[in-house]
Amino acid sequence: MRACAAVALALVAATVIASAQGARRVVSLIVVGGTVLTQNDVRQVLSPGAVAIDGSTIVDVGTPVEIAARFSAPQTIEARDQVVLPGLVNTHTHAPMVLFRGLADDLALMDWLQKYIFPAEAKSVSPEFVRTGTRLAALEMIESGTTAFADMYYFEEEIAKAASEAGLRGVLGQTIIQFPVADAKTPAEGLARAEAFIQAFRNDPLIVPAVAPHAMYTLDRDALVASAALGRKYDVPVLIHLAETQDEVKTAREQHQSTPAGYLESIGFWGPRTVAAHGIWVTDEDIAILKRHDVAVSHNPESNMKLASGAAPVLKYLAAGVTLSLGTDGAASNNDLDMFEAMRQASFLAKLSSGDPTAVPAQTALDLATIGGARALGLQKEIGSLEVGKRADLITVSMSSARQTPMYDPVSHLVYVTRGDDVRNTIVNGKVLMRDRRVLTLNEGEVLAQARALALKVRDAVQ
Ligand SMILES: [Zn+2]
Repeated sequence: MRACAAVALALVAATVIASAQGARRVVSLIVVGGTVLTQNDVRQVLSPGAVAIDGSTIVDVGTPVEIAARFSAPQTIEARDQVVLPGLVNTHTHAPMVLFRGLADDLALMDWLQKYIFPAEAKSVSPEFVRTGTRLAALEMIESGTTAFADMYYFEEEIAKAASEAGLRGVLGQTIIQFPVADAKTPAEGLARAEAFIQAFRNDPLIVPAVAPHAMYTLDRDALVASAALGRKYDVPVLIHLAETQDEVKTAREQHQSTPAGYLESIGFWGPRTVAAHGIWVTDEDIAILKRHDVAVSHNPESNMKLASGAAPVLKYLAAGVTLSLGTDGAASNNDLDMFEAMRQASFLAKLSSGDPTAVPAQTALDLATIGGARALGLQKEIGSLEVGKRADLITVSMSSARQTPMYDPVSHLVYVTRGDDVRNTIVNGKVLMRDRRVLTLNEGEVLAQARALALKVRDAVQ
């Protein structure tokens, strides 16, 4: 009798398991094992954890046992001994400028721009240059865990095509600038290009088109106002450089009897979808202006240190509740696109400049590079954390090297010891762009060879 009951129970149990397995939903990809940093509102950590992805969407985040009970997938990424986190968001760069990497270093911003960068751009920027540079930048971003980036450059439609072919997410701004540049002779031409670009890409699944008026000191009032109006007309982001140097503040004071932020407010430039890069030389009133208009600030510590531009008042921005995020700036002033370095330097620079070792702790730095970046770009409902319903933009980072041993706290390690090349897998919109360090969407050898060939022309241009 007892034996019969045991057999019956075993049968029931087997049936339950079988039906549970039968009910398992088939999804496209499961990332399993490792420590999952969700970066959700309560910064939940699952160790070990798993993420189920179907198509472009995160459909569940849980323990490996929970996920295995609910889902099966034809494709699995094993992330044991790794940290799984939202892809990093770089909120200020000029992707094709990777082709100017190391061309001219150790100069002040205005010398660097006027003697090297602007002349080099005048002679070498073309659709081919922008395509080749963006592919190189995309390769570097995918390899170092950046899944979304905000860009300001020329021929932005070429950047959009190259980025989306590589599988990256981009908020891409067509540059408007007062002097003649490779893709526009006047600001009006730049604005017409920007409008055509917005119309061409506004329904793209990966690309958010934007307008990028260069700065208040490189554009007249009409062009600034028209740029902001174009952003409003299509409800797209507006990207601008702000208060990067003391020279810019001097110009604003002399020409407009105001600060850069104050002048831009006086002409009605600011709006809620604006991202201001740098924001170093700002007054308390300027910070209040940015907060009042819900302007996001992109902090670029490495570029700011290399050009000795200054230290942005990060603690004041955080205290004021300004949306703050991190960028690398173009690789010509950094000289790479590694967002792990940007996190580390954001923390170090805040500590050094404030004299406070508790300033910008590791968790804050990680927040700035993930959910903070998503908020700055208006994409916080889509990306920036690993939550059900969001787009599947995530990375896995190896934590098993000597440099990372032992590991007490994964957040500390991500900010204080990790480098871009510790990233193992990069996934954007549910698509695996890099698997076990092999980039699947770009031909690495071809991208590097094309970049090296173009660099010869760049060298000739500045000689
Ligand atoms: Zn910049």
